[in-house]
Amino acid sequence: MRRLGCPSCGAEIWFHNTACLSCGAELGFQPGRGLVPLGSDRGAACANRAVIGCNWVAAAPGGLCLSCAHSTVVPDLSVPGNDRRWARIERDKRMLMRLLDALGLPLRDAAGAPAPVFELRGDPIGPAPGPKVITGHAHGTITLNIAEADDAERERIRAEMGEPYRTLAGHLRHEVAHHYWDLLVAENPAALDRLRPVFGDERADYGAALERHYREGPPPGWEATHVTAYATAHPWEDFADTWAHLFHILDSMETALAYDLLRDDGLQGLEVAALAALPVERLAEPWIALSVALNAVNEAMGHGRFYPFVLSPAVLEKLEAIRRLLPVAG
Ligand SMILES: [Zn+2]
Ligand SMILES: [Zn+2]
Ligand SMILES: [Zn+2]
Repeated sequence: MRRLGCPSCGAEIWFHNTACLSCGAELGFQPGRGLVPLGSDRGAACANRAVIGCNWVAAAPGGLCLSCAHSTVVPDLSVPGNDRRWARIERDKRMLMRLLDALGLPLRDAAGAPAPVFELRGDPIGPAPGPKVITGHAHGTITLNIAEADDAERERIRAEMGEPYRTLAGHLRHEVAHHYWDLLVAENPAALDRLRPVFGDERADYGAALERHYREGPPPGWEATHVTAYATAHPWEDFADTWAHLFHILDSMETALAYDLLRDDGLQGLEVAALAALPVERLAEPWIALSVALNAVNEAMGHGRFYPFVLSPAVLEKLEAIRRLLPVAG
């Protein structure tokens, strides 16, 4: 994330704020532009502003912003706590949407409708509840179980699954990767030829692969070739977890550069699209130095590690293969 300033008084504004804490101006975020005063010719409030604190602007009064327009199913607000869960998810989804937009990734389908779309669903409740909601992607629709917005529940699942890291941002970045595989790779013979030698053959039986993964766990020594244990389950999951890591790295490096936390003469002032235009080989060393430093800072504060992962040469090669799919990679 880059740093944002109030268009009225210049004070620094956090990405999620709806108003300037210095001068009180009501503000809205416009992707590709930054903060604009609400009520200006460009700044109509998103219709979800009052409900979930969405601080993005809509094209017209009463409309939804670019991010909210992609949520086709939203939580049932008659269930206590769902307003909070919805707000929490949309907050991280706006970070995702800003990245997708900045990286030049398509956000509409051939007919001009929003794509991918998000269905934010809660597990059924009542005397005869149906099946639980499974987070995942199918045909341009990303389903997210809104229980993941509860820190305690997400942490419980993280511990149960033995994962070092589980966040809403991570889920969103992972699931959106499946959509962009379908869009940019699945029917593109040249991309398939480049990616299969790196990720393996995705025609392997997906259901059987997941079943094997949950039964046997990752193969020994998986850290040399995969960024997470889950990535070993199937080439699609490897692609999605590695894509999520590329997003983690690009957003974190952009933020660190904006706050002058990353000293690298060649990178000063670069925003996310310019970072993504550089080969991963160029980003790896400053990223590793930054993540080691932030791991130490996080530990000093009594939190866990900031980035509990190791990027092997094979993983760097996968990150580069994904980076080259981005429109801004050139
Ligand atoms: Zn201000
Ligand atoms: Zn909105
Ligand atoms: Zn997946």
